[in-house]
Amino acid sequence: MKMYYDLHIHTALSPCADDEMTPNNIVNMAHLKGLDIIAVTDHNSIKNVEAVSVAAKKQGITVIPGMEVETAEEVHIITLFPSMRSAYSVWQIVDDNMPFIENNPDIFGEQFVLDENDNIIEEESKLLLRATKISVQKLFSLTKSVGGIAIPAHINRRSNSLISNLGFIPPELNVTTVEVSGNICLTDYLSQNPYLRNYNIISNSDAHSLGIISERNKFIDVINNKPQSIIGFFG
Ligand SMILES: [Zn+2]
Ligand SMILES: [Zn+2]
Repeated sequence: MKMYYDLHIHTALSPCADDEMTPNNIVNMAHLKGLDIIAVTDHNSIKNVEAVSVAAKKQGITVIPGMEVETAEEVHIITLFPSMRSAYSVWQIVDDNMPFIENNPDIFGEQFVLDENDNIIEEESKLLLRATKISVQKLFSLTKSVGGIAIPAHINRRSNSLISNLGFIPPELNVTTVEVSGNICLTDYLSQNPYLRNYNIISNSDAHSLGIISERNKFIDVINNKPQSIIGFFG
């Protein structure tokens, strides 16, 4: 079955995302755009995943628990998980490896933890948009150990990407899927970087505001809409 997706969406928990990125606003916009599957991927945290999942049930949209982790090498990696429990276990390690630096909302932006009715239940005090002490290699093995998948984010970008920061895709990571920003011409990019044809290529919105959430124009063909089969497709 064709499932239209956007697997890289930030909520109001990410300091760089708009405050309007609440669970219900995200789900309603995804519904308007005709998406079947979304992933919530805040910087180094999963604290809004559950609320978006509950809100999404009303619209029949599947939410994949996720997180955009910044590694010790300052590389952004999208991690997607088959369940909240598996996401939680990796997040705890990510959180333990991110020493406390207090967020300054005036400089970096607010970090709101919300419930399924868009009420603010916490203001995250720890600055989330920063490198953890976890290496790319370690993050890949941690994610895989709980049945999840790690996807190098926006590999075409000149900062915070696996290729910009490491210069190549290390073979020992066993990368299967890479994310290329949705706003570039994929055909041109692949003709300049033909080795990328060895990987599944995925494009997401990396939405930090509502209007940016993907249109219904990219799908995967999977047997059902369960997180496990979607992760299996990319793995
Ligand atoms: Zn990023
Ligand atoms: Zn992002």
